[in-house]
Parts: sequence; C-alpha cells; structure tokens
Amino acid sequence: MTAPSTDPSPAVGTETPAASSASSASFVALRVLAVRGLSVRFTMRDGRHVAAVDDVTFDLAAGECLALVGESGCGKSVLASALLGLLPANARTAGSAVVDGVELLGAGERTLARTVRGRRIGLVPQSPAAHLTPVRTVGAQLAETVRALTGLRGTDARDAALTAAARAAFPAGHLDRYPHELSGGLAQRAATAIALVGDAPLLLADEPTTGLDRELVDHTADELRRHADEGHAILLITHDLAAAARTADRVAVMYAGRIVEIASAEAFFGSLGPRHPYARGLLNALPEREFAPIPGLPPELGDLPAGCAFAPRCPRADDACTVLPRLAGGVACHHPEDRHA
Ligand code: SF4
Repeated sequence: MTAPSTDPSPAVGTETPAASSASSASFVALRVLAVRGLSVRFTMRDGRHVAAVDDVTFDLAAGECLALVGESGCGKSVLASALLGLLPANARTAGSAVVDGVELLGAGERTLARTVRGRRIGLVPQSPAAHLTPVRTVGAQLAETVRALTGLRGTDARDAALTAAARAAFPAGHLDRYPHELSGGLAQRAATAIALVGDAPLLLADEPTTGLDRELVDHTADELRRHADEGHAILLITHDLAAAARTADRVAVMYAGRIVEIASAEAFFGSLGPRHPYARGLLNALPEREFAPIPGLPPELGDLPAGCAFAPRCPRADDACTVLPRLAGGVACHHPEDRHA
C-alpha cells in the first residue's frame, strides 16, 4: 500500500472516538485525504452559474470510512468527480484536495492518469456491470489493469491479479467468466478487485449499493468495512443510510452543495442522533424510524435561496436563518439540536 501522507498541518473534522485517544501527532500521520474549501461551479450555456459544491472541508484517515450522504442532486457525486478529475469542461473548481501528497484540483490529465486514478484513488463504481468491459473476461480485465498500473508481466502479473481477486473475495474459479455471466454481487467484487490492483490508499465508492437487494447491500457494506479495517481510507458516497450505518466511522451530510453536518457514526446513528434538522429528517424518513418524509423538495442548485438553503423545508427556520450558517462544531445551523438538552 502507498504510504499515507505525513502532512503536518492540522487535520479538520476527523476526530473519531477511537482517534481522539491517540496523540494528534500519530493521528495526523495517518491522513490520506485533505479537502479544504472545495467548490465546484458550472457555467451553463445561458450564462447562469450553478454552485454544485460549495466550500467543502474534511479529512480522511487510513483505516477510516467516511460516508458522504444526502439526497440526489446534493453535490456528492460532483465532489467525487472533482476528486477524480472527471468534471466536464464547463466546471471550475476552487480550494484544495490533496490525496497522499498530490494536489488533485487543477492537476493535468497526465498526472491524474499516471499517479492518481488507480494508484492513489481506487474507484468502486456505481454500476459494476456497466463499468466492466462486456466482451472481456474478468481475468483479462484484471490482468490488463495489473499491467497498466504495476508494469508486471507474465506470471507476476497473473499472481498480482489473483491477489487482487482474493482481496475482493472474487473466486479464482470465476476469473474466466464474462461480466454478463456474473451475479450482481460477483460483478461488484470484480469491480472492487480492479479498484484494489494499484493498492491505492483511498478507495472511493460511489453509490456502490444502488440497485442491489438488501442482502447484497449488507454484503457490499461489510466488504467495504473490511477494506477499511485492512488500512484503506474509504470515501463512501451514498444515499443509503442503512449502508452508511453499517460501514462508516463518520458521516458527512450534504445539502445543496454544502456539508451541513459531520459527526461520528456512533453519535449520528445512536441515541444522540444528528443535530442538523435536515440530517434528523433524513433519518426520520427511514421506514424503520418514523417513515416521515421531509416536506418539500431540495432547491435548484442554480437558484438557491439567500441564507440557509434548507429554510423553506425547516420547522426551526426563523429570521436568523436568512444569514448563511457556517459549519462550526460539526454542524451548519443557527438552531441545531442540543444533544445535552
Ligand atoms: S439554519 Fe435555520 S433554516 Fe437552516 S437548518 Fe438551521 S434552523 Fe433550519
């Protein structure tokens, strides 16, 4: 595995219950991803500007899983595309995102292709079956990825492919199968095996449970947890709170392009619960909780209200909320839930 960054600047929003007992020096040494003030703005054909991601800041450490959650269109997948350098030409970025010592924002395609994708960031895709090449066997695709990322050839390449398959729990006896011959779970493992070939310190899982039945969701979540426990930093982008609860150490909630709460999974999903009204609404919408949907719809990113973007849907909104709340103490809200009440 590539050595994690030893950037000595202070980590932001990363302290977990487990980490808090460690010395700050040893904790900072484990940081893999540092995102600071990341913003992504699109210029549309009609000249409008759409702020899809606004001033996002967080850190991610080796062995840790951060779940980035929120409704569709909240900006979480745009953030993932920004980290991978896959934004369209009409996008402009600001801020900083450093993975394992490499600045991602503004990096050229050559740098991203040669040093980032697959090597520093392994992508566990949203749709494994679509991500795999349909006319080539899983083994052939794994071997090709091994050659491209490691330069290994012959027996060494085959051994490396087998190792990646084993780490993703993909059965060696199925390596000669084509993607259409795989179940949903095996296709997911095949895509994960490809993501693991380059031994990237950061795995970015973009909606990896979409379209899977509950059993496969649980299995995929458990596999991601296993990869975190083996030392990978995992950025799990999902709208599936059950998968996040099963996998994550911390949860960051996005709304209208901003992080509105970041908390330990223990506090977020436990008896304390989230502090931000939107985050509480997301949890309460689950069938196993109150099954009460949040009224209204998310705002258009190109037409955000002044102040807090959640105000039109928020039961706590008042005049103070016409001023944009900044993230402070893990929550961006003028009237957050008081956990000590
Ligand atoms: S800032 Fe105001 S409107 Fe926004 S979530 Fe908090 S209470 Fe609701």
